[in-house]
Amino acid sequence: MIRRAAVDQPPNNTRYDEKENVLTTSTWKDKALFTPGPLTTSRTVKQAMLRDLGSRDGEFIAIVRDVRERLVRLAEVDIDTHTTVLMQGSGTFGLEAVLATCVPRGKKLLCAINGAYGRRMAAIGRTLGIDVVELSYAEDAPIVPADIEKALAEDADIAMVTCCHCETTSGILNPIAEVGAMVQAAGRDFYVDAMSSFGAIDTNVAEMGIDYLVSSANKCIEGVPGFSFCVAKLDKLLACEGNARSISLDLVAQYKGLESNGQFRFTPPTHAILAFHQALLELEEEGGVAGRGARYRANHEIIAAGMTAMGFRRYLKPELQAPIITSFYYPDDPNFDFTKFYSLLAERGYVIYPGKVGDADCFRIGNIGRLFPNDMRDLLSAVSDVLAQMDVRLKGVA
Ligand SMILES: *Cc1c(COP(=O)(O)O)cnc(C)c1O
Repeated sequence: MIRRAAVDQPPNNTRYDEKENVLTTSTWKDKALFTPGPLTTSRTVKQAMLRDLGSRDGEFIAIVRDVRERLVRLAEVDIDTHTTVLMQGSGTFGLEAVLATCVPRGKKLLCAINGAYGRRMAAIGRTLGIDVVELSYAEDAPIVPADIEKALAEDADIAMVTCCHCETTSGILNPIAEVGAMVQAAGRDFYVDAMSSFGAIDTNVAEMGIDYLVSSANKCIEGVPGFSFCVAKLDKLLACEGNARSISLDLVAQYKGLESNGQFRFTPPTHAILAFHQALLELEEEGGVAGRGARYRANHEIIAAGMTAMGFRRYLKPELQAPIITSFYYPDDPNFDFTKFYSLLAERGYVIYPGKVGDADCFRIGNIGRLFPNDMRDLLSAVSDVLAQMDVRLKGVA
């Protein structure tokens, strides 16, 4: 018999207001999520979900079309040459869909890896029966375009190269424009995991030589989790028809369904798409990629400066860092205990992110999602209070 562990009951702060005939959660403030996802979203994004649309409803179909076109524009390309395919599931489902559909049978996949997400991509490839060539780097080092150029020159069977834009494991930014130029010159396909960068870091898919880019609803675009999307070069995508190793993750079949009648082949995440549409409008209001990127950079700089001033050491050299998530070493004070640090912050309403980077004991602080410079300053003062409570003294702190 399987015994269930005793767990805390989830709080139920929802009340039924009989007069207004609505549920209210007004007394309840969620914790702020300083993580790589799920992320804090705006109230209006959440409110956009308070509807039930049918998957064949004209309004829903129009929203899906608008979302797909906006994403193509966000990738700075044209709907005549590029398309966006939405895929149910979290980001990984979209990543897997591209490998399952777009690596030709009998050909190889080159994975340039400098973190857990790069390793995951290689694992997905192997599980699909694809011959995977790995180029591995330390987690605090960017991938090197010249290594990829050499590998492609030596092996004509490599059909596709893949890497992360921002490797969220450490928060490092990879030089994808340089990699893209080499992959394109070698006549192979370039596939970027832009999960934690798209929407906040300028990404011109054509100029960067990207054939397939995958990101998800719940990272920098600040929708809710539930689906991912692939921006693809149309002629390349269409050439993959009939190649898929999966039914549900067949990207070409999904594309054809969306194009023929605007519908998903299987039940779409209608609420998540409504939320995402609202999130795209809010992204535009904020000034698009430039505006959002500026807020995230401001957030990141406050965290980096504030934590450093308290005596925390950063895992990455600042010049390698993307303004998305920052890794810090555990302080070397015997009184520091990460689990306790984490819970004391969570009690105060701040959720940070654990995670070993490389062999180093680190934790991470994300600065994406609906968080602003004031939230960063609030977190810093909570960190300072918690350190005092734990009696942890960092070098450089009085
Ligand atoms: C978040 C993330 C993923 C995985 O996304 P899920 O939604 O958890 O499946 C993959 N790659 C990168 C770089 C990410 O940041």
